[in-house]
Amino acid sequence: MLHRAVGLRYQNAGKIARKLGQVRNLSIHEYRSAELLRKYGVGTPAGEAAVTPEEAYAAAKKVGHNALVVKAQALTGGRGKGHFDTGLKSGVHMIETPEQARDLASQMLNHNLITKQSGAKGKLVSAVYVVERVNAKHEAYLSILMDRKSQKPLIICSSEGGMNIEDVAKKNPNAIKKFYVTESEGLTPGMAAEIAKNLGFSQEAEADAADAVTKLYKIFKEKDATQIEINPLSEVSGQNTKVMCMDAKFGFDDNASFRQEEVYSWRDLSQEDPDEVVAKKSDLNFVKLKGNIGCLVNGAGLAMATMDVIKLYGGDPANFLDCGGGATPETIETAFKLILSNKNVDGIFVNIFGGIVRCDYVAEGLVAATKNLSVTVPIVARLQGTKLEEGQKIIKESGLKIYSFDELDPAAQKIVELANA
Ligand code: GDP
Ligand code: MN
Repeated sequence: MLHRAVGLRYQNAGKIARKLGQVRNLSIHEYRSAELLRKYGVGTPAGEAAVTPEEAYAAAKKVGHNALVVKAQALTGGRGKGHFDTGLKSGVHMIETPEQARDLASQMLNHNLITKQSGAKGKLVSAVYVVERVNAKHEAYLSILMDRKSQKPLIICSSEGGMNIEDVAKKNPNAIKKFYVTESEGLTPGMAAEIAKNLGFSQEAEADAADAVTKLYKIFKEKDATQIEINPLSEVSGQNTKVMCMDAKFGFDDNASFRQEEVYSWRDLSQEDPDEVVAKKSDLNFVKLKGNIGCLVNGAGLAMATMDVIKLYGGDPANFLDCGGGATPETIETAFKLILSNKNVDGIFVNIFGGIVRCDYVAEGLVAATKNLSVTVPIVARLQGTKLEEGQKIIKESGLKIYSFDELDPAAQKIVELANA
């Protein structure tokens, strides 16, 4: 039995930890990243974003080249090899005229782009980015990220970049080089030059490559990025620099949002799970899982214990929902709404430890939410802590079908029994 519990903790721990706040991340659209690159003097093709077909037409005219690329803006990787829910192939198209930009924009905007990374439903395309088509002589790969193990910024580069980077990692791992940056020293000119030599560029492009890498590292530090991925980083001709970022994916540390106002103003809610947006507004941590028992708990540790014990009795959690210190009637109601919006849910398990929040107050919230939302699935509430008896009394006197417990094991057993009935 113990093994099963440990197994579950292992399966869900990563996913839950990522959502718990320590490592929440903001992603921004490619066209926003390009704006940031330009600000720091890093080469990137000229481009204009558009949110309507007419705007795309105007954007193409403004960019003013007769070789252009239209790129779907959706927060997912692998767009070039993706396809749309309409059947249209690829989120990256080479075009020649503003009319084509308009036509492609109408086929891309507000449709879902499905890629290897997007999940089966795909990601909504909320904008298109029309860029000048730059002639690339060679495509390399470069990323900067925070290495968890060493707690140091890590720069990864490959002389073979572009759309097949996953294959390179498998078939030619020697092409991929790693460089650890010591934060006190920063990225030294020597290391930047060494990285530039490992990109497979011609010698005359190396100085510009080192310059680009140095500036990218500056962005990484100054903007509290957790990740910058440039793929491809290309050697180009006919530009005022020999090296350009043709695509950029940036991730930013949520914990630094207070000092990165501009970056955070670029958040695109259409790219996020609407339920998670609602949850976040109420300071709830919400992670969807595959089972049928909705869980509401307070505290991350209690959440993990709750999920383990449900699994132990043969149940399967539908979600993880942590209301932290804010188990107010309003947050409980929001939490119930989120849980019940999942049609798989056959029962709700509430496991709240009343410390700062008193059990009687939590019980009032539970009763109100159950009445207001006319909840029909069974509810098991395990309350512990201050004013427990008063809390249980409120539940009992409500006449509602809320099963009240003060011990975790019998409570978990009960909800599993009810949900599986
Ligand atoms: P991703 O598939 O989501 O990574 O999208 P990218 O922005 O990387 O575009 C896919 C591919 O299109 C890149 O790997 C490039 O080979 C190519 N590409 C994108 N923009 C340009 C451009 O301006 N010029 C050229 N020559 N190729 C481009
Ligand atoms: Mn790319």
